[in-house]
Order: sequence, then C-alpha cells, then structure tokens
Amino acid sequence: MIALGIEGTAWSLSAALVDEKDVIAIESRAYVPKEGGIHPREASQHHSENIGHVISSLLSNFDEIDKIDVVAFSQGPGLGPCLRVVATAARAIALKLKKPLVGVNHCLAHVEVGRWKTGARNPVSLYVSGGNSQVIARRGDRYRVFGETLDIGIGNALDKLARHMRLKHPGGPKIEKLARKGKKYYELPYVVKGMDFSFSGMVTAAQRLYDDGIPAEDVAFSFQETAFAMLTEVTERALAYLDLDEVLLVGGVGANERLQEMLRIMCEDRGARFYAPPKQLMGDNGAMIAYTGLLMYKHGYSTPVGNSAVKPDFRIDDVEVRWD
Ligand code: AMP
Ligand code: MG
Repeated sequence: MIALGIEGTAWSLSAALVDEKDVIAIESRAYVPKEGGIHPREASQHHSENIGHVISSLLSNFDEIDKIDVVAFSQGPGLGPCLRVVATAARAIALKLKKPLVGVNHCLAHVEVGRWKTGARNPVSLYVSGGNSQVIARRGDRYRVFGETLDIGIGNALDKLARHMRLKHPGGPKIEKLARKGKKYYELPYVVKGMDFSFSGMVTAAQRLYDDGIPAEDVAFSFQETAFAMLTEVTERALAYLDLDEVLLVGGVGANERLQEMLRIMCEDRGARFYAPPKQLMGDNGAMIAYTGLLMYKHGYSTPVGNSAVKPDFRIDDVEVRWD
C-alpha cells in the first residue's frame, strides 16, 4: 500500500510518498520569516505559493500515481491559515485520484513515525517542537498526555531567546551551537508543577541576563541546562509512574544533542532504552503524515470531505488508536 501525505501545520510545507516499509520520496519547502517569528498569514501564503511545486515535483519521478491508495493530510493542531491550504490541496488530490482522504493528528504522526523508524514498542514519548511540548504514552485505545507545557513550547522558547539575541529564526540550532561554548551556569527559574512545566518565565529571565551583559554562550548554556533538565525530570517521572522502559524523543527540538544526552543518561540510570528517529524525520515532515495516514487507513479510518475541516486545537487523545 502507498500513501501520499502532506504536512503544513506551521513552517514546513512537505509532501511524501511512503509504503509500509519505507519513505519512497519526500519534497519540502520551508517558510523562513524575513524577520521575527512565524507569521501565520505569511506562512500560509508561502504554503499556497509552493504547494503546486511541492506536489508536482514529488509526483514527477513517480510513474505509478494510480497505485496511491490514500491521501493523508495534517488536520491539526497548527496555524489555521496554514492548515487550510494543506487541507484544500489534499481534498483536491483525493477527489482527482478518486482515493480516500485521511485527516491525521500532527502529534500522533510525530510519535508513530518515531516508533516506525526506531522500533520502540510502548515508549514514553517526549514530543518537543515549536508549538508543542508534551510527555505522551499509550494507555488502552488512546495516547494520553501525562505532562505538558502550561504556556509556550520549548522550541518557541528557544526561538524567542535567540531572537532577543538578534539571531535569525529558527533559533534552536543557534542556541545549541552557542551553548556548547558556555562555561558558567546562571540560575534560571526551574518550573515543574506536578507533571507540567512552563518556559515563558525562563525566557524573560534569560533575556534579562543577556541584557545585563552576561555572554550569549553562558545564557544559552544555562537556558538549555535548565529547560532540558525540566523535560528530563518529567519524562523520568512518567516512566516510573507508568512502569515503562522505553523513551522516544520526537519533534524538531529532538535534534538537540544535549537534550538527547540528558535523556540517554537518565535512561541508562534506570535501565530503560532511549530512542530517537533520524534527524530528517524529527522535525515536521510529510513522511510522518503519509505513514500515519497509511496506518490509520489500514485500520479502517477515512475522512469524508464533509468532515475534513481543519482542527487548529486537535488533541492527540481525541484519536482512538486501533493498532498495536
Ligand atoms: P517542529 O515544529 O517539530 O518542526 O520543530 C521546530 C522547532 O525545533 C523550532 O522551534 C526550532 O528552533 C527547533 N529546533 C530545531 N533544531 C533544533 C536544535 N538542534 N536544538 C534545539 N531546537 C531545535
Ligand atoms: Mg511538529
């Protein structure tokens, strides 16, 4: 079976073809803001200007279009104007090919592509991206959120701090590079409330350190150490509470080597296994939507066009999970 999947919840416009074994092809175009952070209208304009190119170049080297079984798209959560561009394209393609449509939850897709590519079976997933930060695990027929950010996503927090230090979007990789050169740790608010965490107070405090003349390297280092310790603590607590022995790291911030290291050390200490998918599948990408759409379709899901409206606040626990 073959699925075509389209992602476009925020910065990444990406379409891919996958079968049950692997990714056949992927074609992506990233929206990079000229200044500041992601602007929803500009991002959606980027997506509408590029969707034709992304789809046609994905399909240009694929001479078995009639073999596509299902058309999947990310239905949410995400930025409304961006989601609508992708949903419109997916509907048009599905109608043209006379194939079923499957609306996919974006967070679920991060987790499922991670399980697919790493072999993790029943992990605690730490999903860390621009807009989302959640600790997720499967309980019965749902993925449940055991802990999450009370305000902004960790990626957004890193991007805001970077922007304050006049670094261009996306800031996460730039903060990581600076942090490697950091020498001195400055204390920042460590905010874990039960299983939830919060980052916006930390961002303000770190921005203040920078304004007070603390070197950017030390600010970046202190920020990463504090924020990633918070995420590792909550992930560890979920492991212990649920009595599980696998951790899966997904989402764009998952590319961060220091975060991976902290989680790996925590897992080693507990005798748990640590998994992270290849970097190309960490951040938002079409392959995760195609793969999850295929999985859902094989388990009886399809989304009639009349039910395919976008869901900007779509939660992972809204989806019944019918597969192992
Ligand atoms: P996503 O929405 O899942 O594609 O993730 C995008 C977010 O990941 C942005 O906020 C980026 O700044 C962040 N990001 C990407 N690479 C890294 C990295 N190496 N370290 C930290 N954050 C990163
Ligand atoms: Mg994402």
